[in-house]
Amino acid sequence: MTAPSDAPRVLADIALEIDPDEVLRFQGYKPGLAVPSREVLALFDEAQALGRRLMEPRAVVRWLTVTRRDGDTLEAGGVALTIPGIERAWGPVAELATAVCTIGESLERRGAELWEARELPLAAMLDSVGSGAVESLAEYVNDVLCQEGIQRGLKVTNRISPGYGAWDVAQQKELFALCPGSAIGVRLNESCFMTPVKSVSLLAGAGVAARVDHYFSQCARCWMRDCAYRRAPARKTVHR
Ligand code: SF4
Repeated sequence: MTAPSDAPRVLADIALEIDPDEVLRFQGYKPGLAVPSREVLALFDEAQALGRRLMEPRAVVRWLTVTRRDGDTLEAGGVALTIPGIERAWGPVAELATAVCTIGESLERRGAELWEARELPLAAMLDSVGSGAVESLAEYVNDVLCQEGIQRGLKVTNRISPGYGAWDVAQQKELFALCPGSAIGVRLNESCFMTPVKSVSLLAGAGVAARVDHYFSQCARCWMRDCAYRRAPARKTVHR
């Protein structure tokens, strides 16, 4: 069983499902509002098949004990994270779950070749497939962390990332200091931009009284079919 302050662990061989709604959202289609044409769906099928062959989903995860909580500042592993609104959003968290996920560079490389060959619709759709895939991967990892926390009696919050909402993107550096993206080949530059581009870093909180589900039910998207703690029926899966 996972213990707090574990060393970083790499998750590989992930049988990831790509969420078509997520991909089409990157193409500007909002579910229920715009219906993609047959041509767009055919392009999506082609890009998805290509994307499935090219993506190499991997993640590095690390649990840490929270050593200090001071308003919206959480400290763990000697690193302080200041996340506006987090005290109210998460409540009292005792541990942090950190992760960096990527689908690798192959899909990006193929996309660049397609741009070069002026196969623009397929290149754009493949890029959206990559964006959808890495979002699905982040969901998958959030669910793994939830399952690990729950087995130790901890509720696990939904994920957040530096640069989203009010959390300063500059704190990517602190997040990488806690969870080394280098373990899966993800690099961070001075501007806090990740390479490969199709990468996501994330943070979740955990605690017996952590606040979950008050703004979005994570269980509704979770692939853990047999989870005994499920709080809402699954709508779809990110697991093949
Ligand atoms: S079903 Fe809900 S409680 Fe169970 S692992 Fe998934 S998100 Fe967590």
